[in-house]
Amino acid sequence: MRTYTARATPGAKAPFERTTIERREPGPHDIVIKIAYAGICHSDIHTARNEWGPAMFPLVPGHEITGVVEEVGDAVSRHAVGDRVGVGCMVDSCRECENCALGEEQYCVDGNIGTYNAMGKDGLPTAGGYSSHIIVDEAFVLRIPEGLELDVAAPLLCAGITLYSPLRHWEAGPGKKVGIVGFGGLGHMGVKIAAALGADVTVFSQTLAKQEDGLKFGAQDYIATRDMSVLKPLAKSFDLVVSTISATWSIDRYLQLLRLNGTLVNVGAPPEPMSVGAYSLMTNRRSLAGSGIGGIRETQEMLDFCAEHGLGAEIETIAADQIDEAWDRVVDSDVRYRFVIDAATI
Ligand code: NAP
Ligand code: ZN
Ligand code: ZN
Repeated sequence: MRTYTARATPGAKAPFERTTIERREPGPHDIVIKIAYAGICHSDIHTARNEWGPAMFPLVPGHEITGVVEEVGDAVSRHAVGDRVGVGCMVDSCRECENCALGEEQYCVDGNIGTYNAMGKDGLPTAGGYSSHIIVDEAFVLRIPEGLELDVAAPLLCAGITLYSPLRHWEAGPGKKVGIVGFGGLGHMGVKIAAALGADVTVFSQTLAKQEDGLKFGAQDYIATRDMSVLKPLAKSFDLVVSTISATWSIDRYLQLLRLNGTLVNVGAPPEPMSVGAYSLMTNRRSLAGSGIGGIRETQEMLDFCAEHGLGAEIETIAADQIDEAWDRVVDSDVRYRFVIDAATI
C-alpha cells in the first residue's frame, strides 16, 4: 500500500479535511501520477451532497486530473516517467463488453469504475484528484498534448469531453445552428468547441452577465433566459441544443427551439426527474437525448483537438483550503468558468 495526502469530505455537506489515503502498490500496467491540478466539477458536489443517492464517505472527489508520470509498472508501454498526463471520470471498465469493445468505456455494460465514489478492481474505494497522487492503469491515462498547460487542460478531462462527444455525435459544424444552455464549466467548453467545429453558436444563460465572454469564446448570439418569452422568436431554428443545467429546467421550452429533425441533448444531471410533453417531440420529428462523458479514445481525440485549436478552460486556480468556498460559489453559478485546485497545496 502507498499512503498519500488528500482532501476528503467526511459526510454530506461536511467541510473538507486534510487527510491521508491508501492506494494500491502499482502493478505492471499501472502509472503513478503526481497530480498538478484537479478541476472542480458540479458532479463532485452533487455526489458529496448525496443528491444522486448516498455517497461513500470519506469522499475524495476530483475527476478532472492532470499531472506528471512519476513511476511506471514493468509492462507499461503508453506512457513514460516525466510525461504530462490526465485522468478523467473513469479509471477502469470491464474492457470486454460490446460497448468497451467499441471504445465507449463510459457505457460499459457492467458500469465503468468511477475515479471516485466507486469500488476499484483492487478492492479499495476509488479516490479522486483532490489528492497528491493517483495510481491508474495505463489504459485509462490520457496524454496531454504539447501546447496545453496542465492547469487549463484539467477541466477538459470532464467538462471538455462531455461537450465534445455529443457535439461530434450530432455533427455540430458549418451550417449547423447550435445552442448551449447553461454557461458554466461544461457550457463554456461547449461554446468554445462548437465554435471551433464551425457551428453557429448561441448561448442561453440566466442573465446577460457573461455575454461578453460568450461572444469572445466564439458564440454568435447570447440570450438571457430569466424571461422565457425571449425563446419564442427563436422557435424552430436550431439543429442541436445541448443543456448543461445542473438544476431542473423546462425541456419543453427548449424543444420548441428545434427545427425539423433537431435534437435536444441533456448532459446536466439534476437530481429530480423532469417531464416532457408529447407534442413538443412530435412537432418537427424532434429527438430528446442524453450523453455521458466520452470514451478513452474520444477523450484523447478531444485533447488533441483542443491543443490544435488552442482551446483550454477558463480557470480560477485555488488552494486546497478554498474548496468549500469554491463549491458554494459553483452552486451559486458564480464561477468563471472552472475552479482548479493547485495540488501543491493539498
Ligand atoms: P456549473 O459550472 O455549475 O454550470 C451549470 C450552469 O447551469 C450554471 O453555470 C448556470 O448557467 C446553469 N444553471 C444552474 N442552475 C440553474 C437554474 N436553476 N436554472 C437555469 N440555469 C441554471 O456545472 P458543470 O460542472 O458545468 O455541470 C453541469 C451539470 O452537468 C451538472 O449537473 C453535472 O453534474 C453534470 N455533468 C454531467 C456530465 C455528463 O457526463 N453528462 C459530466 C459532467 C457534469 P448560467 O450561469 O449561464 O445561467
Ligand atoms: Zn465532471
Ligand atoms: Zn465493458
